[in-house]
Parts: sequence; structure tokens; C-alpha cells
Amino acid sequence: MTSAFVPGPFRRTRRVAWRRWSLWVALGVLVVGLLITLVYLAARYEASQAQSNVERDAADALSDIRSALTRNVQTLQALQTGQSDHEKWTLEAAKLLRENREWVRIEWRSPQLQLLAEADTPFRPAVFARYGRDQSLPEVQQACSTARHISSHAYARSHFVPQADGTGLELMELCLPQVSSGRLTGYLVATYSLSELLASRIGPQLGRSQEVSFTEADGTRLAMHGLARRGTRVFTAQQLLDLPGSTMVLRLDSWRSQPDVFPNVLTALVTLMSIALVTVLFLLGHDTRRRLRVEQDLADALAFRKAMEDSLVTGLRARDLQGYTTYVNPAFCQMVGFAPEELLGHEAPAPYWPPEFAEEYRKRQQVRLVAGNQPPREGFESVFMRKDGTRFPVLIIEAPLINAHGLQTGWMSAVLDISEQRRVEELSRASQERLQATARLATVGEMASLLSHELNQPLAAIASYATGSLNLLREAPEHAASDLQLAMGRIAEQAERAGRVIKSVHDFVRRRDQAREAVAPRDLVDAVLPLVNLQARKLGVRVDIRIAEPLPLVLCDRTMVEQVLLNLARNAMQAMDAARVAQPSLLLQVKLAGASEIGKRWLEFSVADVGPGIPEEVKQQLFTPFFTTKAEGMGLGLSLCRTVVEQHGGYLVFEPNQPQGTIFRFTLPARA
Ligand code: ADP
Repeated sequence: MTSAFVPGPFRRTRRVAWRRWSLWVALGVLVVGLLITLVYLAARYEASQAQSNVERDAADALSDIRSALTRNVQTLQALQTGQSDHEKWTLEAAKLLRENREWVRIEWRSPQLQLLAEADTPFRPAVFARYGRDQSLPEVQQACSTARHISSHAYARSHFVPQADGTGLELMELCLPQVSSGRLTGYLVATYSLSELLASRIGPQLGRSQEVSFTEADGTRLAMHGLARRGTRVFTAQQLLDLPGSTMVLRLDSWRSQPDVFPNVLTALVTLMSIALVTVLFLLGHDTRRRLRVEQDLADALAFRKAMEDSLVTGLRARDLQGYTTYVNPAFCQMVGFAPEELLGHEAPAPYWPPEFAEEYRKRQQVRLVAGNQPPREGFESVFMRKDGTRFPVLIIEAPLINAHGLQTGWMSAVLDISEQRRVEELSRASQERLQATARLATVGEMASLLSHELNQPLAAIASYATGSLNLLREAPEHAASDLQLAMGRIAEQAERAGRVIKSVHDFVRRRDQAREAVAPRDLVDAVLPLVNLQARKLGVRVDIRIAEPLPLVLCDRTMVEQVLLNLARNAMQAMDAARVAQPSLLLQVKLAGASEIGKRWLEFSVADVGPGIPEEVKQQLFTPFFTTKAEGMGLGLSLCRTVVEQHGGYLVFEPNQPQGTIFRFTLPARA
């Protein structure tokens, strides 16, 4: 039974779980992507920082070198100004060489470049000692020709001069033309050692992991200073050193270790943990909110359940599968008069079981618990005992108690105290009996009224026969024997008839199934004819009878149908009499009814008069019992007629007669 509804929610749960997992995976991928980007960008930033540092250092170095070179040119110009004494010049030059390490030699040359005076740096052995100065004369000439050309100092391309110790120096010649009164008087040639230039002018500012060098445009290294190969990555910046007569590239290399990943990873980890923390906080907040909401809902549901339980008038009782009471509601406690703690955890026999039924109840419970058979859905009746010992009837409806896993854990019973219901039933039975007695009384009244109505005619007939007989006896007793016999016979007949009427009315009022008999229609008419004629004679009415022969027999309660005919005839005659109709006549007719049900034939009786007809306001209430327009009338005739006819399955109607009067028609079943 449970498997029928499990797959739906199960599938849904799986779908929800899958969706939740995919969300988490997406979140994880996003976070990892974010962290990698972070580390990558941090490294990129570090690298660009390092690069821009190197660029800045290179620019600084270049400007240092430029200003140093410019200052040097000025110093040399000062040396030359107004000098003509070679000795003194040499001393001055030697002094300058001591102060400036980047120069290896200063020479004073004639306009034809003959050497006039010279000084060598004191810091190293004479540079040109090994191969001679002539090796580098072309550079000197180049520099001086450029200088003469531009009338300012000029440099020559650097050149390499091997040294005695196997090393070599890259040197650069600077030539300053000496002009006196617009005439070239000589040249001052200073020879720069490029490596010393770097060492003395840039060296001090140079970082330990930097290397500065002069290179040619094609990258050939000319001189360098600083040595470092720390780290694996080199950042390089190049600046063009553009000198009159010579152009070089100043190149700065800075070695650095690969931007460190670890601090970045650390940052990333911290970021990750922050994200995780925020996420966890968010989830926790969300969860707490949901939990609060659920708790609130639960509290509401509990309050609702409690209110529902308290408002119930039905007692509720739960028992586990061992028969221990696990739950009772206030209505149940109130019903049996025990406190909940007296009932909870109690096993059979329960305190509310009457001792005399305890054994029976125990068996019933055993059957329920062991066999687990379903109790009847509409419940069963039983008797419980209140704490004060009074017994009361209850209706118990039991249903299995199913837990959230679909397992039965016991039985839940709804207990209804039906003592009130019993009392009401008893009351209603008593009142029913009283009603029946009243009804019987009413019947007696009805019967009395009908009897007095229906007995009028036979009694009137008997009275008039009796009066006639008395008259005969008084006037001519000797000739009256045969007439008297006839009158006495009629009196006996009417008395007998009165007896039959009493019985029929009695049966009719008691609604007994009247004895139906097959009667010829003519016999019915003949039976009432003497009475009708009696009255007709008195009122001067002509009576016509029309019976279409042959006719089937009528199946009816003979006496009552005769009464119907009598009543209709009497009404007709009374109406004509009251209206003082000139030639009153009454037509009694019997024929086969026209349209009829298949297989069933009907006979139609009609009583027609030529009276005043029935006024509209009278028509409405014609068949209402006790409605009459006559001073001595009882208003029961027509209502009785209709009831009798309808009891036979027929109908009674009336319509105006032509040219005047009323026709009453009724139908009765013919014998099949
Ligand atoms: P009752 O004869 O005691 O008055 P009925 O129930 O027999 O009671 O008749 C009710 C009323 O119907 C009469 O009082 C009368 O006014 C009217 N009625 C009955 N038959 C005729 C008829 N043939 N012509 C005119 N009025 C009639």
C-alpha cells in the first residue's frame, strides 16, 4: 500500500537533491575560477610593478650619466682654458684623473692631433702600454673631426683595447676642440672607460640584483657593471644614450625571482575562507530563519490541533499495538470522569471498563491486536463505566494509527457518548405512542362526523317509512297489512343499510384495505335508487337513469361507492331545490370511460343536474373537509367522495352542465 505513493515524492526529492548538488558544484567552480584569476592578476601586477621599477631605474641611470658627461665636459673645458704650460697642465690633468675614475687618459693634442701633453689614470696600469696608442688613433681622429665639424665636443664610437692581463677595456674617446679668437688651437682628448663610467656614476645607486650595461643597437654588449643572477626572471629596460658622434644603448637588467605564488595563494586562501565563512553564515541565517518559520508553523499547527481537540465533543483514545493507552483527549476524560494520567499508559482492563464486561472486552481487544482485523467502519456499540460507577452506552469507531513511515503503530478510536441519543430515542418513541393515541382519537372524531353524515339518509328514510306506517295504522288499519309489510320491509332494509354504512365508514376511516367485490353497475344504481327516489319525490325532481349495456363488472367497495352516488345525487337535488329550478331533473349515467390505460378498463359514472352551477369562489374549496354553503350542511360529502374514488385508483371531477347546472363524473376500475 505504501509503495503506491512513495515513488512520486522520492523522484521529486532526487530531482531537488540533484539540483542542489549542481548548484554547489557550480559555486565551487566559480570560487576556484575566481581564486585562480586572483592569483594570476596579483602575479601580473607584481610583474608589471617590477617592470616599471626597472624602467624608472633605467631612466634615472641615463639622466645620471648624461649629467655626469655634461659636467665632465665642463670640467675639461675649465682645464683647458688659458693653459699653455704643459707641465702645469699635466699636473692639473693628473689631479682630474684622480678625481674621476671613468677617465683612463687625458691628452692635449695639436690641431694636427700631435700629442702635446698627456696624463694617465693612477688607478690602473697604463691602458695603451701593450699595443700602443696608435691603435686607437682612428677613433681619436673621428671624434676630433666631428668636434671640429660641429665646433663642440664630440665622441667617437667605442673601441676595445686588450690589456696586458688578458682582459680588455671598452673605451670611448671624447674630443674637445680648443678655439682661441675664432682659430682652432688644439684638442683635448679624454678617454672614457665605459665600465668605469657605469661603476662610478651608476654603481652606487645600483641595486644588488641589477646589472647595467652599454650595448650597441644590435644588442652587442660593450661594457657592464653589477652582477647578479638571483632569481629566474629578468626584467629589462633600455634607454638610448645619444651623444654627439656616438650612440649607445643603456640597458638595465633586473633579476627577480618568479613572483612568489605563496603569498598570493595565502591571500587566495584567506579570500576563500572568507567566502566560505560568509556563505556558511548566510546559510546558517537562512536555515535559522527557515527553522524559526517551521517552528512557528509547528506551534500554530499544535495550537490548532489543541483547539480542535479541546472543542471536540467526541472522545479520542489511542492505543499502541500492545494495548497500552497512549493518548486521550479532554472530551474522553470528561466522558469517563478519569484524569488523563489515570488512563495513559494503562493496559487492559481499562478503568472505564465495567467489571462485568471486562472479560468480553479483553477478548475483543485481543482479537483486534493479534489478528489486526479491521473493525466495522460504521463503528460498534459498547458500554463504558464512569469513575462514579455509572454505566453509559458508547459508539466506538476505530481506525488504524499509521505513522510517518506508513507503519501501523496502534489504533485510534473515536468514542461517542450515546446515552443522550438513547434518551432522545426513548422520548421520541413515547411521543410517537402519544401521537398514535391522539391520531386514534382524531380517527374516532372523523368517524363520528362521517357516520352522522352518512347515517342521515337511512335514518331519514326509516323515519319517513315509520311515519307513513303510523299514518296507515291510524287511518285504515284493516287494509294496511300489505302496505305496512312493504314499509316494514323498507325500514328493515334501511336499518340494515345503516349497519353496513357504519361498518364501511369504520373500515374507511381506519384505512383498512377495503373488501373489493365485482358488482354490476346497474346493481349499484338500483341499491341507491329507493333513497334517491324518496328524496326526489319530496322535492319534485325527475330522475333519469341511463346505463349503456353491456358493461363490465365494477371492482369496488360496494357500500362506499353507493354512498358516493347518494351524496352526489343528494347535493344535486339540494342545489336545484335551493335555487328553485322550474323543472328540476337529475340524470344518473354509467358508461365505459373513453381513453384508458392499456390492459385496464374504466367505467365512468356521472350525476348531472340543471341547478345553478358552482360559483367560482366555491370551486376552490369544494373538496375541503367541512366546507359548506348550507345552513345544516357538514361539508364532508365531496371530500369523502373524492377520497373513496381515489382509493379505487379513479378520479372525481366536475364541470358545468349545458345549458345549466353541474355534472360530477368519477371513474372506477372494471374487472379485467
Ligand atoms: P354539504 O353537502 O354538507 O354542504 P358537500 O361537501 O357535499 O357538503 O358539498 C359542499 C358544497 O358544494 C355544498 O355546500 C354546495 O355549496 C356545493 N355543491 C355540491 N354539489 C353541488 C351541485 N351539484 N350544485 C351546486 N353546488 C354544489
